[in-house]
Amino acid sequence: MITPTIAPHEPANTLELDYRALSETFARHTPILDVHTHVGTPRAAKLYCEVADLFGVTHTWTMTGLDNARRLFPDYGHRINFICVPDYMKKDSPGTFTTQWLRDIEHFREELGSTVIKFWAAPRGRDFAEMSPNPADADAMKLDSPIRKEGMKLAYDLGYRTFMTHVGDPDTWFQTVYADAGRYGTKADQFKPLEAALEQYHDVTWIGAHMGGWPEDLGWLQAFLDRHPNYVVDTSACKWQVRELSKHPARFKAFCEANPGRVLFGTDIVADERMDNSIGFDLFASRYWALRTLMETSYNGPSPIVDPDLHKIDPSVSEHATAHLRGASLTPETLRDVYYDAAAKVLDFDASTTSTG
Ligand SMILES: [Zn+2]
Repeated sequence: MITPTIAPHEPANTLELDYRALSETFARHTPILDVHTHVGTPRAAKLYCEVADLFGVTHTWTMTGLDNARRLFPDYGHRINFICVPDYMKKDSPGTFTTQWLRDIEHFREELGSTVIKFWAAPRGRDFAEMSPNPADADAMKLDSPIRKEGMKLAYDLGYRTFMTHVGDPDTWFQTVYADAGRYGTKADQFKPLEAALEQYHDVTWIGAHMGGWPEDLGWLQAFLDRHPNYVVDTSACKWQVRELSKHPARFKAFCEANPGRVLFGTDIVADERMDNSIGFDLFASRYWALRTLMETSYNGPSPIVDPDLHKIDPSVSEHATAHLRGASLTPETLRDVYYDAAAKVLDFDASTTSTG
């Protein structure tokens, strides 16, 4: 996500669950790596880590602007890893997505040891870029714009070997906010520049955030994976994944089993200062509870998280509606792969050399 889109008041616990007690009901087969979060500040990180501990998440990758990443690094660098991103908090400063971004790519690598860089390329990047005070930024969010290509080459030359990208968005958005295909393109159109980049940087592993942007159609996603051996996906964007994967949990299970090493656990938790302890706790815990329930159990009932897309696509549905959650009951072997082994391999991660316990 480009900026936190989760309002701090958004209900994350409509079922009034005791997330702390429920966290203990999950088996501890394996430590969990969360490859997709947005942890903003030291105060937010403290609460985030408390929740991560409860749910067995030992290491996390965050997309945090350089200033805050520098603040987090001394105390949290042993368990939070930094994915290079532009500083979206400075989105109104000229150069944030161009000249300054190129410098940030160097700083993340040199100061914070980053090996992963994110290229956010959602259709709404077009709106975002047009709001920028700098006309040169207009195409900055396109995956194939000149500045993006320059940044990719710089990152590659500096040694980044994992490129993360967000391409596409939920089908529900293409039916609503992106209904103007003349402006935004179709959903399939979004993936054409990605296919070219996957071929150009074929010795880089690319992580497609949010189930590669297409959890609604795992057959389409399978064909995409088959075409591009250097592409893997993460499970992040909890509401989206719960809503869509719950429609075909057996298909999701088969998909994970058919693609060992290529489905990485991620949440897209946004942890920032606006969330005080009670709101933040439920917000972060709800994402871990819902995604672990989706992966590990045969739960068949309401999600505790309000999903605004349900109202967006059908105005007769309450704005406070929650999706239906159906668990996929992944086997312990598949869970070990999704929770740990796949990310450890892609990210060349060895907990024994980074954890200070
Ligand atoms: Zn995200």
